[in-house]
Amino acid sequence: MNLPKDLQYFSKMLGELRKLPYLSSKNLYKVGVSILEMDYSAVEKLASVLTLAKQYSKKCLQCHAYSELDLCLICTNEKLSEKKICVVANWLEMLTVSTAVDFDGKFHVLGGLLSPLDGIGPNQLNIATLKERVKLKDVEEILFAFSPTPEAEVTISLIISTLKEFCEKIRFFRISSGVPVGASIEFSDRSTLTQAFAEKRALL
Ligand SMILES: [Zn+2]
Repeated sequence: MNLPKDLQYFSKMLGELRKLPYLSSKNLYKVGVSILEMDYSAVEKLASVLTLAKQYSKKCLQCHAYSELDLCLICTNEKLSEKKICVVANWLEMLTVSTAVDFDGKFHVLGGLLSPLDGIGPNQLNIATLKERVKLKDVEEILFAFSPTPEAEVTISLIISTLKEFCEKIRFFRISSGVPVGASIEFSDRSTLTQAFAEKRALL
C-alpha cells in the first residue's frame, strides 16, 4: 500500500510499528489508523507508558524474569523452596506456568533453547547463572518445563551434563508429555499444565 506524500509523520509512525514482531502488514495499517482516531491525551498516555515500561522493567538478577525490582517476587518469596528450580525457556512460559501451577520452588529463565542454526549456543543462554545458583543454594532438584521440541531435548542434555560435573546428588525431572508434541507451554491450559507437573518424570 502506498501512502500519500502529505502524510510524512504517519508514514514514519508506521515505519516504527513495522519493526514490531507479530504485527501483520494488514494489521499495521489498522493499528496506525486506530492511533490517529484516539484522543490526543490517550496517545500521549500510550507514548508515556511505553517509555516507562521500558525504563523500569529489568531482569531479575537471580532468575532473569522481568521485574521492576533487583530480585523478583518469586525469588524473594521465602515460602518457595530454594532447593527446587523449574527451568523454563522464556519469561512468558514462566508466567504461564507460575500462574497455572502450584509449584513450590523457584524458577530460572534460560532465555531460549539451544539452536545452533539460529546462532543460539550455550553462551547465549543463562546456563552459567543456573550453575552458580545450584552451587550457592545447594539445589537438589531441577525440573525442566519445556515445550516438547528437538531443541528442548538438546538443551536438557547440555544442562544435565553441565550440572552433573560438580553436583552428583542433584536430581533431574521433566514435566510429563501432557503438553502435546508441537504445542507450546505458553498456550497450554491450566489443567494440562497441572497434570504435566503432577506427572513429572525422573531423568537418568
Ligand atoms: Zn527472580
